[in-house]
Amino acid sequence: NQKTDMSVFENLESEVRSYSRSFPTTFEKAKGYHMWDGNGNSYIDFFAGAGALNYGHNDDAMQQKLIEYIQSDGLLHSLDMATNARAEFLKKFNEVILEPRNMSYKIMFPGPTGTNTVESALKIARKVTGREKVVTFTNAFHGMTIGALSVTGNAFKRHGAGIPLTYSMAMPYDDYMDGYDSLDYLERMIQDGGSGIDLPAAIILETVQGEGGINAASFEWLKKVEELCRRLDIMLIVDDVQAGCGRTGTFFSFEKAGISPDVVCLSKSISGSGLPMAITLIKPEYDQWGPGEHNGTFRGNNLAFVTATEALDYWKTNEFSESIEEKSGLFQKRLYQFVKDYPELEGEVRGRGLMLGIASKKEGLAGQIAAESFKKGLIIETSGPDDEVLKMLPPLIIDEEGISKGLDIIEESIKAVLG
Ligand code: PMP
Repeated sequence: NQKTDMSVFENLESEVRSYSRSFPTTFEKAKGYHMWDGNGNSYIDFFAGAGALNYGHNDDAMQQKLIEYIQSDGLLHSLDMATNARAEFLKKFNEVILEPRNMSYKIMFPGPTGTNTVESALKIARKVTGREKVVTFTNAFHGMTIGALSVTGNAFKRHGAGIPLTYSMAMPYDDYMDGYDSLDYLERMIQDGGSGIDLPAAIILETVQGEGGINAASFEWLKKVEELCRRLDIMLIVDDVQAGCGRTGTFFSFEKAGISPDVVCLSKSISGSGLPMAITLIKPEYDQWGPGEHNGTFRGNNLAFVTATEALDYWKTNEFSESIEEKSGLFQKRLYQFVKDYPELEGEVRGRGLMLGIASKKEGLAGQIAAESFKKGLIIETSGPDDEVLKMLPPLIIDEEGISKGLDIIEESIKAVLG
């Protein structure tokens, strides 16, 4: 593919920029699971805005609704005033998502992004319990603001800002350490008055850790976490910012585990279109905020409400869910084959639904494969504490052709990198 002049970014933008380094071109447009740059090069998207584009780029129906809304002089900004767009989202979310699952939550708009919903979850847990600490897990990622960072198990992201974990340790995530029952350990520490570990307000977790390396917790372990929370009267917060909105095959990532979190954080794909939006679901008995106690200017993005309402149509029947499982099967078949056919990868397949990855024990290999894939027309990222996981988050609407073309590029890139 042709090269683009990236000097404007290098000269004018902060060194903190990241994805423009991984994908050094200037993108111009996108549709479905395709993106195009200014040189007319096309790319298959296995990144989907880090999970913000589960329904693909520029979905026809959402685009049409946006055009109609703007042309009718619909409100763009309205703080958190009551608008029709907001009402329609609330009603439909309840009808299509909560009621059929027998779930009862109050819906709160915490601010525009994922880190905002996490902040609101931490605050409500502290307010409800009157306790301070929140337990988190190794390799957890919850966002970049100070509260969310304080429960993020990634030293690189925290250290520059000098932010400690809320506890001085994060508990090992699931069966991370063989034969080590971290929940039993946590319970003993809490109950031993001399351990220095106070009864926490909440436990926060991702059911599949995205940034932490596509680590999927077993349903059994998730149930054990819930049991511990109920036994000790600790609130359970599930951060479904990346794993939610269908990413793992069901609307909420915890549905098949059969757990019932007290607070659920959603963002990324909740608007359906990639417009910024976040919601926090709070069990009604814990919705103890007074009016104005948590507010902000951009908690009512009506354009996001319009597309979020439209996106819920995907969930009116089971068809979409089933299609995600089928596509996951197609992906996994090839990924297991890669690991078998290319033993030099020292690879391991990870994940659930369309949140998948190949972890490689070879330092730097996942990053080299991602860089090679970009040259061949595939947008794909890495994750994990050492960027050791080639991470696949295709739009959930991808078809068989897109899956096989994208996976062909990965296979060609594996061959090229292994030489
Ligand atoms: N929680 C999880 C699980 C995430 O993956 C992310 C973003 N990668 C966040 C929170 C933070 O979301 P945002 O970047 O929108 O603030």
